[in-house]
Amino acid sequence: MLSYRHSFHAGNHADVLKHTVLSLILAAMKEKDKPFLYLDTHAGAGRYLLNSDRAERTGEYREGIARIWQREDCPALLEPYLTVINHYNRSGTLRYYPGSPLIARQLLREHDRLHLTELHSSDYPLLRSEFQKDPRAEVLRADGYQQLKSQLPPPSRRGVILIDPPYEMKTDYQDVVAGIQEGYKRFATGVYALWYPVVLRQNVKRILAGLEKTGIRRILQIELALRPDSDQRGMTASGMIVINPPWMLEQQMNELLPWIHQALVPEGIGHTLVRWVAPE
Ligand code: SAM
Repeated sequence: MLSYRHSFHAGNHADVLKHTVLSLILAAMKEKDKPFLYLDTHAGAGRYLLNSDRAERTGEYREGIARIWQREDCPALLEPYLTVINHYNRSGTLRYYPGSPLIARQLLREHDRLHLTELHSSDYPLLRSEFQKDPRAEVLRADGYQQLKSQLPPPSRRGVILIDPPYEMKTDYQDVVAGIQEGYKRFATGVYALWYPVVLRQNVKRILAGLEKTGIRRILQIELALRPDSDQRGMTASGMIVINPPWMLEQQMNELLPWIHQALVPEGIGHTLVRWVAPE
């Protein structure tokens, strides 16, 4: 039974980090003309209404995207991400938050492809209708982890794979490692971007240890914490683990993260981190 709905959390600090990293990866992929596949294993509904009961109930976006989208001193590196946010909010009021499939849709070119999977019975139809008229996209109600076996390697031999499960089931912490291993076996040159929450630090350590054990190299970890680690309930931080990151990503995030951190947490608590889990 899937109970997680991203509409409660859309546009929060974790989305800001995840989608900033995703946008920079997609921008880097476009430096070569050759087409690529964007594979989103846990795609969500696609578009989120920020003045909905759900979003307003948690108010998470107010401490995320709302804090940065209209700042006049935004670093240029945020441009690919903020261009998409602005595209969906042309009236100048923050009404919609585009999830990862919509961010990719805006940033991909005509000859690139999207393969999106979502399991939830309510979110899947919403996602499918977003892409009804987009011939580049294939949208399936299917298990995201399975796609790492069935869709890789892509015919174009270039690809970005976003793995963004809700972690409502403990097994997700192992499944993400097994899934990456399956994908990597078939497609070792793909760019894999895995999102993780920091609720209990132990679970993140497990993912990292699992990945180190695979022997995969070129693994970059990027983390943004709004509060120190805690063993109470609740997410204090989140991160992205990127395998085969574009060569500039480390430097870009070192430049960008302190600004994002300052904008989201003016009190200065928490931390930022960019480090190699496994270098070249
Ligand atoms: N990637 C989206 C974004 O950035 O906008 C958010 C995705 S949300 C964190 C996780 C989604 O995964 C939920 O919508 C949930 O219904 C879906 N889900 C859970 N288990 C899944 C599975 N095994 N395969 C595909 N989707 C799944």
